[in-house]
Formats: sequence, structure tokens, C-alpha cells
Amino acid sequence: MSKYVNEIEKRRTFAIISHPDAGKTTLTEKFLLYGGAIAMAGAVKGKKAARHAVSDWMEIEKQRGISVTSSVMQFHYEGYCINILDTPGHQDFSEDTYRTLMAADSAVMVIDAAKGVEPQTRKLFKVCLLRDIPIFTFINKMDREARNPYDLLDEIEYELGIKTYPMNWPIGCGKEFKGVYDRNKKEIIAFRANDEMANGQRQVAAIEADLSDPNLAELIGEDHRQTLVDDVELLDGAGYEFDLEAVRHGRLSPVFFGSALTNFGVEPFLEDFLHMTTPPLPRKSDAGEIDPFDDDFSAFVFKIQANMNKAHRDRVAFMRICSGKFEKGMEVLHVQGDKRMKLSQPQQLMAQEREIVDEAYAGDIIGVFDPGIFSIGDTISVPGKKFRFEGIPTFAPEHFALVRQVDTMKRKQFIKGTSQIAQEGAIQIFQELGGGMEEVIVGVVGVLQFEVLEYRLKNEYNVDIHMERLPYEHIRWIENEDLDPKTLNLTSDTKRIQDLKGNRLLIFANSWSINWALEHNEGLKLAEFGR
Ligand code: GDP
Repeated sequence: MSKYVNEIEKRRTFAIISHPDAGKTTLTEKFLLYGGAIAMAGAVKGKKAARHAVSDWMEIEKQRGISVTSSVMQFHYEGYCINILDTPGHQDFSEDTYRTLMAADSAVMVIDAAKGVEPQTRKLFKVCLLRDIPIFTFINKMDREARNPYDLLDEIEYELGIKTYPMNWPIGCGKEFKGVYDRNKKEIIAFRANDEMANGQRQVAAIEADLSDPNLAELIGEDHRQTLVDDVELLDGAGYEFDLEAVRHGRLSPVFFGSALTNFGVEPFLEDFLHMTTPPLPRKSDAGEIDPFDDDFSAFVFKIQANMNKAHRDRVAFMRICSGKFEKGMEVLHVQGDKRMKLSQPQQLMAQEREIVDEAYAGDIIGVFDPGIFSIGDTISVPGKKFRFEGIPTFAPEHFALVRQVDTMKRKQFIKGTSQIAQEGAIQIFQELGGGMEEVIVGVVGVLQFEVLEYRLKNEYNVDIHMERLPYEHIRWIENEDLDPKTLNLTSDTKRIQDLKGNRLLIFANSWSINWALEHNEGLKLAEFGR
């Protein structure tokens, strides 16, 4: 048994996913409040407000040196040590948002009760499915007008392809929101709107009752009482059985209804979630699965963040610890570089503060100073143990542009700059099939990356570029190895390209053209993720 079993067992590392505005920040903040990591609601908000426009973001990067915007927050609650991974949204939605999910052991999906499943949730959910990690659903904003709860569950099941199990059931919504029925405790937790709703700093007082309570009709109204009795009967009779194994393998999502802003249902959610989710999971490597409880330290790099400050051209590599314990100053092996080294300036984000860490355990995330040697997916282990964790897939960019340098004399810097930025994983670069490097096709997951590219090429490499947006929206990796893409029968708005590793790909203007390609080329195999 591991020396560190007590420490590792209490770790819970999860990502929060949602479409912008569903309430991810509000919910995160409530978690931190319960954990005592912040004293007041609004603390997380301030950080968010400060990162609106691209220009602001770059100014912030310049001033602080290294960005702390999208990161990890650690806090303690009821004996657990919790790492929340924030998945950047809005404008800074990028491939990093997806990669963050590779470092989590489970995901919390926040859905706006009035809107249901939205595009960004759908995209992030697909990535969760790649790994079969547990997914917990929080249907938020029940204090506002909401869609019918049955419809919401149907939509999750149909659109995302996962079964659902409502842990609680809402009684009304909006002005008529009376609370929820906890199916496990068979108890009604009544919602009382009051003045504290305005800032939602405290838990709204909960009045509990059961279905047979003679005062129930008075508490929630006779109509609501009758509907609830019928709903509970229907759910118990016709719904899926609760199955913890299915939850832990990402096949059944426990669903909670609540209201993050008013604090209603947040603490019960956190408690149930912590009981149901898993401690750090094993990771696949070329030497078999690596057990988190193994005494030897190991980690993999899932994100690299460049320093926007010209004076310090260094980067921070974020790694997820997969086994054992990390100690400051310890000697490690960077497997891909085949080099022994000490990780310098290891740091962790504790709620709002960045701190140097002395020790960290499997499940934790640390950021280390990177002089430019790490790549996404690299393995760090103890000297003498040489294995590689399974790589992180390349995610499909959705925006494309043709990019070339304005001054042809700067060709070398242009190639160096674009290649380095691509190595960090901020952009992907492609060439037209058989084309050269004087003109590259840049693909990004979020459009902000185009501006970052332009800014960085100018500031760090002194190269001005000309960028022309291309009308493609979808990319697919051609999986048939011996196929010559030139022989493919494609629509005129489909382009054949290759990446720097020689993989052949197709970019499409719309999903209709993808179907056309599949229908007109027998045996063609197209993948949505690159390996
Ligand atoms: P994010 O973009 O997913 O991080 O969403 P935020 O947490 O920033 O929330 C978006 C907006 O919805 C903010 O104005 C919040 O105050 C509001 N909001 C969040 N949760 C609730 C809720 O439970 N009820 C209501 N009425 N508003 C909410």
C-alpha cells in the first residue's frame, strides 16, 4: 500500500463545463465559499470581469508576466482536498479548454434550466466521453422560468447520449419555485426567496418535509403537491435505476436541480457529488496502467502557457500528477527529452493566490517554469522509470485562416514563430497538400487565438503577417493510410491538407460536405480527433 494513501484518497479533481452564462463561475464560487477558501461571493467574479477584451487580456499578461486566468483552484471541504479545473470559455475558448478535461477525473456540467443543452456544452461533453469519466449535471437557475424538467432530461439523453438519474426533482420554477424533492432522503427541501438572493452570500434557509406531511399543501400549494406526488410515482416507476458503477464509468449522469445564485441545492450537490465521484483514476501508459497509489511520482503535461512579456520568454507548463508525491527540489526525468532535471518554481493556485508548492500528490495540478523544453502530453517520472503516458488527442479546430509573412525576408522567423507557437498547442498549422511553408493554413479552436498569434509573431519574432480567414468549419483526419487524397471524390469547397507530421486531412465548409465525401468514397475513414 502506498505511503501516501491517506493524502491521495481524499483528492477529488474535476472540471466544470458549461456554455457561457449558465452559471459556472457562480457555482464555483459557492463551492469555494463552502470550503472557506474565499470569504465573500464576488471574489471569483472580479477575476472574470478583468478578462474581457483581447487587449485587456494581453495587458494583464504583460503586467503579471504569466497569466493566472484559466487555472486550477484547490480547497478543502469535509476532509476532501478538491481541485477544480476551470475550463476557459467565452473568447478564450481554445484547445486548452479541451485539454483541461484530460487532467480531470470527473466533470460537472452546468446547464441553464431555461436553455437546456447548448453548443459549448455539447462540444466539451464529447471530450468527456472520450475518457468515460463520471459526469454530474447541475441544472441551474430554477429560481427563474425554466423548461419542463422531463424535457430537459430527454434533451440531455438524446443530444448527449448519456442516461440520466434525477437525484432531486424540482417543484415549480421561477416565481413559483417551491424547492426540490430529494429522492434519496424522500424529503422536500423548500425554497424561500428572500433579500439575500440579491447577493446570494448565504444559504437560503431550507424547510424540510416529507410527502405525507399534512402541512405540505400549505407549504408548497395543493397543485404543486399533487404534481409532485405524480412525478415521484412516475420517476420511481419509469426512470432508470440508480447504479453507482454506471455513474463512475460515465454511462449514467446524476442530475441535480438548483439555483447557484441563491445557494439553493449547492451544498447537497457538493456532498453527493463528492461521495459519488472517484479519487484519482489510473492512467494508461505504454507500460500499462499507472496506479495513482504507486509511491513513485509521475505526471503529464496537459497545458503550456506562454509568457506574453517579451522580456521573459519563458513559459509555464501545467502538469497533472498521476501517481505518488511531488516534493520541491526533487530530481525527475523528463521522458521525452530523456533528461534528468529539477522542476523549478513549482506553483499551485489556491483559490485566488498563486503559491509555491513544497509538496503535492496524485490528483493535484502544478505549474512549473518551462524554459521551452516541454510539449503537450509529455511524461515526467522518477529517474529510472521510463514510460510514456498515452498522448493527448489533437482537437478539431473550427476556424481557419491563410497566413503568410508580409516581408519575405523574414521567412525564417515566420517559420520559427509559427512552429513554436504550434508546439505550445495554441494553434495548429497545416499546408496545402504538396505545398510549402511560405503560406500556412492556421487552424484554431477559438478565434481569440488568431489575434494572439498575430500579436505574438509581431512582439516576440518581429514578423508582420497577412491573415485571410477561410470559410472552412470542420476538419477530419484521414485514417486510411495507403489512400492518396488526390483520388478522393470531393465537393469543390473541400480542401486537402497535411500537418507537419505528415498526417493527411480534409477541411470542409459545412457538415453536408463531410457526408458527401463519405457517401462518394467507399471505405473512407475520417476521424474527429487526431492522435
Ligand atoms: P458562467 O459564464 O457560466 O461562468 O456564468 P456566471 O456564473 O457568470 O453566471 C451568468 C449570469 O447568470 C450571472 O449574471 C449570474 O448572476 C446569473 N446566475 C448564475 N446562477 C444563477 C441562478 O441560479 N439564478 C439566477 N437567477 N441567476 C443566476
